[in-house]
Amino acid sequence: MAILILLISIILSLESKILNGLERLSEALKALLWEKAKVYGISPIQIQILLFVANHKTEICNVSYLAKEFNVTKATISDAVRVLLKKEYLEKDYSPTDNRRYNLLVTSSGNSLVNNLSEYADVFTQELSSFDEQALSNIFDTLSKLIFQLNQRGIIQVQRTCYNCKYYTGDKKQNHYCNLLESRLKGQEIRIDCNEFEETIN
Ligand code: SF4
Repeated sequence: MAILILLISIILSLESKILNGLERLSEALKALLWEKAKVYGISPIQIQILLFVANHKTEICNVSYLAKEFNVTKATISDAVRVLLKKEYLEKDYSPTDNRRYNLLVTSSGNSLVNNLSEYADVFTQELSSFDEQALSNIFDTLSKLIFQLNQRGIIQVQRTCYNCKYYTGDKKQNHYCNLLESRLKGQEIRIDCNEFEETIN
């Protein structure tokens, strides 16, 4: 049986092995998030929301956008946001024209928590820094294209990468230009979560 399993793993396609690897990485990240969640008494989705709001422009920090970002229902996000508001880690920033609509802001106690939470994946960063620049650049290039392609197929609902940005011109291979920055971008300068991103209208 053990030999059979070994044989199967040898003949698995490279794509399947990469998928396996991505699953393992995703599980490891989730486990790290859970560790932090236990320490600070908030759930992993609450941590993700808090980190997202702390690192993105206010216009997109609302329940609808967060539900798409994290691929969960609006009800799940609303419940998590309610707890974060109650604990005073987040506050509402109401629309001046419609007092039923609001975006989310991080409070000062939320910011202190964010400082403690944001290192949850530091062990990943440390291990990645042991690879040389070319290897990192290849990983990044492949990941950014994979994210774009999965977004085009509707699997990843939200992405803020250059390849889908109205300011991008280029061939998505080697020649990249940002019309907002008015600058050529090297492969490793392609963004996968750009705050200035604006979706291309087809
Ligand atoms: S604005 Fe940001 S996402 Fe858009 S092309 Fe420029 S760097 Fe890329």
